[in-house]
Formats: sequence, structure tokens, C-alpha cells
Amino acid sequence: RIVLGIESSCDETGVGLVRLHDDGTVELLADEVASSVEQHARFGGVVPEVASRAHLEAMVPTAERAFAKAGLGLSDVDAIAVTAGPGLAGALLVGVSAAKGYAAALDVPLYGVNHLAGHIAVDTLQHGPLPSPCLALLVSGGHTQLLRVDDIAGSITELGSTVDDAAGEAYDKVARVLGLPYPGGPPIDKAAKEGDPSAIDFPRGMTGPRDAKYDFSFSGLKTAVARWVENAERRGAEIPVNDVAASFQEAVADVLTAKAVRAAKEMGIGTLVISGGVAANSRLSGLARERCEAAGIELRVPRPRLCTDNGAMIAALGAHLVAAEKKPSALDLSANPALPVGIVSLEA
Ligand code: ATP
Ligand code: MG
Ligand code: FE
Repeated sequence: RIVLGIESSCDETGVGLVRLHDDGTVELLADEVASSVEQHARFGGVVPEVASRAHLEAMVPTAERAFAKAGLGLSDVDAIAVTAGPGLAGALLVGVSAAKGYAAALDVPLYGVNHLAGHIAVDTLQHGPLPSPCLALLVSGGHTQLLRVDDIAGSITELGSTVDDAAGEAYDKVARVLGLPYPGGPPIDKAAKEGDPSAIDFPRGMTGPRDAKYDFSFSGLKTAVARWVENAERRGAEIPVNDVAASFQEAVADVLTAKAVRAAKEMGIGTLVISGGVAANSRLSGLARERCEAAGIELRVPRPRLCTDNGAMIAALGAHLVAAEKKPSALDLSANPALPVGIVSLEA
């Protein structure tokens, strides 16, 4: 069976096509993304109105490219999945409306799904079915959460999350302080490769004995970096951008991997999946690999292209819902900008 996936929660218009095989495995057929990130770059963050308009313009051409890539036509589609939340209200509506249009015209079931669950589900396209249970570290532009996944089609429990900034948000803000372009993750990752990660001892948030053990905090780290740079500027010193980037990145990777591995050990879970845009970070996956190996935990990290927003992740999640015979959404499905991670899909 063929599942079409549509994503429009932020600044990427994504359309993916996957094939659900009888044995439950899901195969990637097409993954087309149009991004409006350049239109937001000079504002240092996503401008909602600009994103909505860009989705409207890109939706049909992106879908056409996906069908052409897969060598399929509209009549081949057996089910449709669309991001219903969380995300920007106006941006989500463009995708939900498009998906309803396709579902009504093709007379196939429609599944309104959770974007965050999609970030985890995408890993099955690369590494096969997820063992149950597994632990997911979701690190993206808007979220940083530690999740227990018993069933990707319906049972995800939050163990902890950030109490302030998301990890990706911290990357974007630190990049700005260092004069690096938006989004900040890729340029910091690159600069850090030329820097010394032990040059500056930046704080590790929420690691004190009285702190909630599975929660995160990155706003103190972000402020510490900004202070350090300000002080250096005041002294008239040249900013060692590579060292600051490497030291900041080390603090983020250290806290994220330490908490994830600790949770896996304490809960006796043998597999850790890291996903979301920040999972594309080379130091995060490198350190996670070292620590998981030492602890005897299987680590799964999707390739960078699958970590950032795309339609294939939504198609993959849709395929798992179809396989699990979950109830589809009603055609009056609405977007929910604040959809909690525990709600994987909106059943009618
Ligand atoms: P959410 O999924 O929470 O709604 P989002 O969809 O906007 O947010 P993603 O597209 O998953 O987020 O991730 C974008 C974030 O990933 C940005 O903050 C970006 O800086 C970060 N990022 C991308 N590549 C890297 C990298 N190599 N290292 C660190 N961060 C990265
Ligand atoms: Mg994005
Ligand atoms: Fe995302």
C-alpha cells in the first residue's frame, strides 16, 4: 500500500511517498522538500505569515515532484497522512487543507498526525521496525524531550523535556551571538570541528543533584555564552569563534547524551533513537555513539536529511498507523498548534 505524507508545520513544505509492505516494513519512495528558510534568515527566526504563503505556493509543485520521483500517480495512493500539530497555526492549515483536498478527491483515509512522532517514525525508513520499548531523544528547533516509545502508532510517554529553550533554539541564538548565519546548527557544527571543546567550561544545565533527572535547560548556557563573548569584546579581544562553538556544542552534547543514557539504563531500555533537526549534529551523534557503546545500548540516528523536517517522516508514521489499523481522522480535521506528544494521531 502507498501512503502520501504532507508536512507544513514550520518553514519546510514536505511531501513524501512510502510503500507499506505486508511484513510491516516501510520503504521510502520519494521525499521532496521546499524550504522558505532563506526568506526568514534576515529575521533570525521563522516569520509565520511568510511561512504560510510559501507553503501555499510550494505545496502542489512539491507534491508533483514527489509523484514524479516515485514514478507514481494520484490514483496509486491508498492513504494520506498530514501533520496536524504541533507547529505554526497558519502553516499547519495549508498542509491540512491540502491533505483534505487530496483525501476527498481520491476517496482514501486521512490521518492527522503528530509532527514529533513523525520525527521518531522516520527512523524506520532507514533502520527498520522500532523495538518495543525504545527510548527517543527528540531534539529539534522547538522541542527537547526524552520519550518512552512503546508503540510508534499509539503509545508515546514523555519522561522529561526542556524547562526553557529547546536545544535547536540555543544553537540558533548562540550562532547569532557569534555572527554565524541562521539556522545556527550547521555553521556551529562546522566551526566546532576547528575548535577546542575544552577551551571554555560552559555550564551543564539541570545536572545538579536536586534537578529533575530527565528534564533539560539550555537558557543558562545560552546566556553564559553571550556573557563570555561580551566580556571578550569589552576587553577588545578577538572572539575565538571556533573554540566558543566547540565548547558550547560540547556542553549541549554532554548533557543530552548523559541524560538519555542514564534514562535507558534506569528503565532497562536497550535502544535509543535520536531524532529531530539537532540529531544531525556530528558531535551529538558521535558522543552518543561512544556512551551507548560503553553502556551496551543500541543507538539509532537517522541520516541528517531525514532528521530535519520532511514529508517522508509523516508518510512513514501514516504507514505505521495503517499497519496498526488505527482509526483515520474525520474530513473536518483541524490543525492543533499545541498538540501534545502523547497524541500520535487524531482519530475521528
Ligand atoms: P519542531 O520539530 O520542534 O517543531 P522544527 O521542525 O523547526 O521544530 P527541525 O527542523 O526538526 O525543527 O530542526 C531545526 C533545528 O535543527 C534548528 O534549530 C537548527 O539549528 C537545528 N540543526 C540543524 N542541523 C543541525 C546541526 N548539524 N547541529 C545542530 N543543530 C542543527
Ligand atoms: Mg525548519
Ligand atoms: Fe520538526
